[in-house]
Amino acid sequence: MFDPQLIRKDFPILSREVNGKPLVYLDSAATSQKPRQVLDAEREYYEHQNANVHRGAHTLGDESTHLLDVAREKVQLFIVAPRKEEIIFVRNTTEAINLVAYSWGSGYLAKDDVVVTTVMEHHSNMVPWQSAAERRGAKVEVVGLTESGQIDMKDYRKKLELKPKLVAFAHVSNTLGTVNPVAEMTKLAHKAGALVLVDGAQAVPHMPVNVAALGCDFYVFSGHKMLGPMGVGVLWGRKELLEAMPPFLTGGGMIDEVYPDHATWAALPDKFEAGTPNVAGAVGFTSAIDYLEKLSMKDVWEHDRELVAYALQRLSTVPEVKILGIRDSEMRSGSVAFVYSGVHAHDVATILDSEGIAVRSGHHCTMPLHSSMGVAASVRASFSVYTTKDDIDALITALEKVKKVFNT
Ligand code: PMP
Repeated sequence: MFDPQLIRKDFPILSREVNGKPLVYLDSAATSQKPRQVLDAEREYYEHQNANVHRGAHTLGDESTHLLDVAREKVQLFIVAPRKEEIIFVRNTTEAINLVAYSWGSGYLAKDDVVVTTVMEHHSNMVPWQSAAERRGAKVEVVGLTESGQIDMKDYRKKLELKPKLVAFAHVSNTLGTVNPVAEMTKLAHKAGALVLVDGAQAVPHMPVNVAALGCDFYVFSGHKMLGPMGVGVLWGRKELLEAMPPFLTGGGMIDEVYPDHATWAALPDKFEAGTPNVAGAVGFTSAIDYLEKLSMKDVWEHDRELVAYALQRLSTVPEVKILGIRDSEMRSGSVAFVYSGVHAHDVATILDSEGIAVRSGHHCTMPLHSSMGVAASVRASFSVYTTKDDIDALITALEKVKKVFNT
């Protein structure tokens, strides 16, 4: 049975105090905490296998290479990707998007071509496309949102009439929590002749994801937001697209043959993994996926449903709080962001921190989204498998202190 109280026992950090109060960690969308199993897996790798991959004709090198391969297969099966070699390990979501924007962009984006994104994108799914467009003389078109913070499908269809080469959007918004209709948007984009990149950074930690069923062409996410270590992220891409793309970073590990004046590239996935990979991180990532699978992603998703509904309900009882995004908890995941009337988000976060409560304040790397809502900054409470309703109650209680201090 899914029991967050039992789960919490696996996370050493959750027993620490902050400012003399028990830590209430509501910043999992920025990075999740890590269970003991993940921490142990990384340490054990360094204690027993540590060696560089591929190159060593010795046992430790072989074991290390095997563990990286195990991690790749684990990720492949977790997101139901058709082929193992389509899983490219990178540092994080940001690097994965930059890889595609640079690599696919330099091969296939031409002058006056169009790339479509949306206003709700994290800067990591906006700025790399702006840079690619600038390099190639192309244009970025940005789809607007409805009043309730969903993608404006009318505007989306209109932007698709421009025949974009690629469409990039989030599976789940890191600020609004909106779950986007990925399969439907992908179908429409494909009909218009565009490739589709989905930013899954806020989806994979909370729900079962099946990239084959979603139908997209690229899917990217970060290990550190799903109980894994920092420094390991994933680019999944269709084999034929990855094979046709020029490399991103060049050097050791990604070559087939090197001559003084030119080189040829290794097959996938190595072509996109230049230099020494983060094997310890990949081993920790394997352990994080094992942990989530043991909980069952179906139950992880159910837990998220409950927390989001509860947070929306409790926050809506605070008169000073204005919740951002759609009120229907069934259409959102992972977090609730809000504005506290008359008090800056940073001040709210500082007072909450004095009560041991960790939330994020600011624009959460979504400046265009905040501007479009006429909001400078917001407070975001975000959840993971170890989050409880008690954590949300603690947030609501602490908001009373904000009221007292600021006399609102
Ligand atoms: N996209 C989304 C939707 C995110 O929430 C984040 C992290 N806040 C990123 C991209 C960037 O992730 P990373 O910092 O791991 O590259």
